[in-house]
Amino acid sequence: MDKGAPLPAEEAIRLAKVADLCPFESNSDEVFDKVVSMTAEFFDAPISLITIVERHRQWFRARVGIDVNETPRETSFYAYSVLTKEPLEVLDARLDDRFKDNPLVTGPPFIRYYAGAPLMTEDGLSLGSLCIIDTKPRSALNKREKSMLVYFAELVMLRIMGVRVRNFVDQPTRLFNRLRLEEDIREVLRNGETSQLVAIDVLTPKFLNDMVKALGYSFAQDLVLAIKDRLLKFLPERCHLYKVSPTRFGFISPGLHPLPQLCNPIVEDFKEPIECDGIPILMQVGVGVLALESKNQLTQDWLRLVVSTADNARDRKTGWAGYESKFDEAHQRAFMLLSYLSNALKCSGQLWLMYQPQIDLKTGQCTCVEALLRWTHPVLGLVNPAEFIPLVQKTALMQPLSEWILHEVIRQAKAWQLEGRTFRIAMNITVSDLESSAFVDCTESLLDSFGLEANKIEIEFTESELITNAAEVSIQLQRLRNLGMEISIDDFGTGYSNWTYLRQIPATTVKLDQSLTARLNEDEKNQRLVKTLIELADRLDYRIVAEGIETEEVLRLVKEWGCTEGQGYLFAKPMSAECLVAWLDSRVLRDDQRALLTRLG
Ligand code: C2E
Ligand code: MG
Ligand code: MG
Repeated sequence: MDKGAPLPAEEAIRLAKVADLCPFESNSDEVFDKVVSMTAEFFDAPISLITIVERHRQWFRARVGIDVNETPRETSFYAYSVLTKEPLEVLDARLDDRFKDNPLVTGPPFIRYYAGAPLMTEDGLSLGSLCIIDTKPRSALNKREKSMLVYFAELVMLRIMGVRVRNFVDQPTRLFNRLRLEEDIREVLRNGETSQLVAIDVLTPKFLNDMVKALGYSFAQDLVLAIKDRLLKFLPERCHLYKVSPTRFGFISPGLHPLPQLCNPIVEDFKEPIECDGIPILMQVGVGVLALESKNQLTQDWLRLVVSTADNARDRKTGWAGYESKFDEAHQRAFMLLSYLSNALKCSGQLWLMYQPQIDLKTGQCTCVEALLRWTHPVLGLVNPAEFIPLVQKTALMQPLSEWILHEVIRQAKAWQLEGRTFRIAMNITVSDLESSAFVDCTESLLDSFGLEANKIEIEFTESELITNAAEVSIQLQRLRNLGMEISIDDFGTGYSNWTYLRQIPATTVKLDQSLTARLNEDEKNQRLVKTLIELADRLDYRIVAEGIETEEVLRLVKEWGCTEGQGYLFAKPMSAECLVAWLDSRVLRDDQRALLTRLG
């Protein structure tokens, strides 16, 4: 058998159209099913099919009289008329050189007669056919029958386009959706037109979610409709507004305009709250703009780029921003970090902990070591936890990561306890660890299985604007405290710390942030602030640990003001578990020597 019909000249474009208009669909469609039944009935044919011809196969969108769903393209009768775009009729396949060896003729379903009409798009491409098949030879269709077959095929095309339009429209707003915008971007690029793609991020998804929870779906929907009406005012003539996602809109602005001229009117207008069902709602708008350029048109993901530009504009509170590749690089990096993390959790060696001693400022003893996470990323190399923890914290990966750290900390603490070492290990946790009971449950069960007392572990917790469920966080911290763990407030004196909040959680220790200690030498005002913070914390019976002690001068000051413990490069940098042990042992030796020397006078 030959390899079937030759490919038409515009095959690549035709295949793109097929993928676009007729993506493979295994669900049946009532209209298509009716058309094939009607066609089979009208022509008194045992088999009728709607075939879609793809690169390597033809598949059947609807069928009667045949069990298979697809056949290889080289066996397709219709592939011949993809070339001519004309209806094809084969009266007896066994007598036709093109088909006599075709496995569908020599084997099941034993085709003898075939007639198919093309499914033609408006731009003259043929997607496949509506066909009838008989297992006996037949005489040719008459003129009326031929036109009926073509009409039925046109009916199929109308349905394909109807489904397509339905797939392109966002129902509540009746605006074109993301799929349609992507299609229109491709069209603009194909035609080489100069345009700017604009994305408007009107709300954060969290804000929308909170609003749905508080005021219901129909309120949120009304608000989106009100936003749509407001945006329509800014639309250039003959342009569509698109609904790109639940919280984002977009449009294509023809020509190139200065960004302030394009964006400022929108940003200014949205400073006015939107009145929805009598409630004024203040938007948090970010507008992103990107020039559509036909070079690299196939490789660029324009919509993603412009949407992340709009997100950035909102996050940085600049109102609007033009696309800059560095934003995208930051996003790509963040994505690269997050997408590799779950793998890192599974394969050993990429994640490990370093330990930094905390020193009792009176006795010089190491009372505790802080466990600090390290990650050797397979592509990016060593990545700082200050970069990836805030990203992970917003995802579901935080829980397995924290549980991995917890396991490692408890295992190490038990091992050191068995060696007779008495210091605790402090572990950093984030707010998201405490928003459900999972982390504390896991702590209890790991302590139990390793047979470790809870007071060997200390928890370092950073206050954060991310707390959405303060009551639950408080309950979980109290559970940890009840187990007998010390609770420290990390990075105290920065961002969000306040005394009222401090009284609401069961903390035993405050860790003064290193940004406060770093500038103690130079700044007298800072000195007074730190001194007051230490005095206040002391009066409220907190243990006070100063972080970031790098010089003897800073050590002298914080000790003088009543700080109980200190941590910083002056004592030691974070070290691997083995180095920490060696460091501790060498210190003991030095202390012994010092004691001996003292005794000797
Ligand atoms: P942090 O908990 O405040 O940890 C102290 C940070 O200061 C560490 O940075 C430490 O290496 C650094 N440091 C210690 N002494 C000095 C000093 O004298 N001078 C200076 N300039 N820096 C000093 P690192 O290890 O990069 O960790 C950064 C932050 O990442 C930590 O701040 C903590 O918030 C977070 N983090 C680290 N490990 C973990 C972890 O296992 N879990 C969670 N949730 N967060 C972690
Ligand atoms: Mg810490
Ligand atoms: Mg800290």
